[in-house]
Amino acid sequence: MSFAKADRIASIALSEIVQLSEAAAAKRAAGEDVLSLGTGEPDFPTPPHVIAAANQAALKGETRYPPTAGTPALRAAIAEVAGTAPANVIVSTGAKQVIANAFAASLNQGDEVILPTPFWTSYRDVIGMFGGTATIVETNAKARFKLSPDALEAAITPRTKWLLLNSPSNPSGMIYTPEELAALGKVLERHPHVWVMADEIYEHISYIPFTSFTKAVPALAARSLIVNGVSKAHSMTGWRIGWGIGPQDLIDAMTTVQGQITSGASSVSQAAALAALTGPQDHLATRCALFQKRRDKVFSAINAIDGLSAILPDGAFYLFACCAQILGPNDTDADFCAHVLAASGLVVVPGRAFGMPGHFRLSYAYSDAELDDAMTRLAQAAQTYVSKDIS
Ligand code: PMP
Repeated sequence: MSFAKADRIASIALSEIVQLSEAAAAKRAAGEDVLSLGTGEPDFPTPPHVIAAANQAALKGETRYPPTAGTPALRAAIAEVAGTAPANVIVSTGAKQVIANAFAASLNQGDEVILPTPFWTSYRDVIGMFGGTATIVETNAKARFKLSPDALEAAITPRTKWLLLNSPSNPSGMIYTPEELAALGKVLERHPHVWVMADEIYEHISYIPFTSFTKAVPALAARSLIVNGVSKAHSMTGWRIGWGIGPQDLIDAMTTVQGQITSGASSVSQAAALAALTGPQDHLATRCALFQKRRDKVFSAINAIDGLSAILPDGAFYLFACCAQILGPNDTDADFCAHVLAASGLVVVPGRAFGMPGHFRLSYAYSDAELDDAMTRLAQAAQTYVSKDIS
C-alpha cells in the first residue's frame, strides 16, 4: 500500500523557495549558467571567535544532553541582553523551532493566527500543521506592507489566539516604528485573549532604528513571545540556535513540547551562540553597513527597469518588488519568475509564496559581483517577457 500522509500535512507542499532552489541546482548540474537570489542566508562566514568557542566546548566535554530549555549560561546571556530573567527564555533548534513549539503548545483545532501579507512562507504551513487557521490580512506597498490598527481590529475574532508580526520583515524588509507598534498595541489592549508573536530574527540588519515589540509596548509583555536567534545576525544559519522570550507559563509549555521532540538544542552550538552574544559585536555593524550598500544598489537597479518597482526596505536582506505592470491579465508572478529563470538563468521567488501575488522576492545577501550580474539578467528578462495573452 502506498504511504498515506496525515491530514495535518495534506495541504502542505514543499516550499516554493526550496522547489526553485532545486530546479536551479538541477539546471546548474546540467551545465547551465544559473545564478540564484533565492535563499535567505548571509554570505559572510561565522565569526572565527564563535567557531573557536564551539571547538573548545567540544574538547572540554560539552558534548552531553544539555538541559531541555537551554544551557544556563546561554539562557542567562540572552536574558541579560533582553532585560529579562532566564526562566523567561527557551533556546531551540533555530527560530523555526521556537515558532513551531509556540504553536504546538498553544493552538487548538480552529484557533486563528492573524498573519499580515507579505509573510515568510513557513508561518502559514506551521500554523496549519498544528491545527490553526491563518487569518491572512492584506497590506500593500502604499501602506509600506504594514498592518494598520483598523485592519487588525477587523481581523480579531473570539477564536484569535495570536497576532504574528515580523519586523524587520522577510520578505518586505519593513520595520515597524515604535509608534506603529504602540498603535497596534492599543487595539490589542481591548482584546486580552490575543497574544503577540514578534519574530525579530533580522533585528541586527536594520537601516533605521529597530524597536522590539515588548520595548515599544511593555503593557503587552505578559502576552508576547519574542522570537530571535543567531542565524542571521552572526551568520550562523547552520548552527541552528534560536530562542523565545516570553511569560514563564508559555516558555514552560514550549519546553514540554521541545522535551518530547528534540530535547535541548545542540550543546556545541549553544556554546557557539554564547560566544556570539558575549564576544565582540563589531561585525554586526560592519555587516549591516555592507548589506545597506547592497540594498541601495539593488533598489536603484530594480527601479531603473521598466515595469518593475520596489519600495526601499528598512532592514533584513530582501527586496520585494512589484512586477504587476509587466504581467498580462492572465499572467501570474510565477510566470514572470519562470521566465526570468528560463531566459536569464536567474532565480527569484514569486510573491504568491509570501501571500502576495504580482510581486517577487530577491535576497541581496550575495557579493557585489553576483548582484551586478543578477541585475543585468533581471533587466534583460524584464525586457524579453512576453505575456501569455500575446504569445
Ligand atoms: N523567521 C524568519 C522571518 C526567517 O526568515 C527565518 C529564516 N529564513 C527564520 C525565522 C528561521 O530562522 P532559523 O534559522 O533561526 O530557524
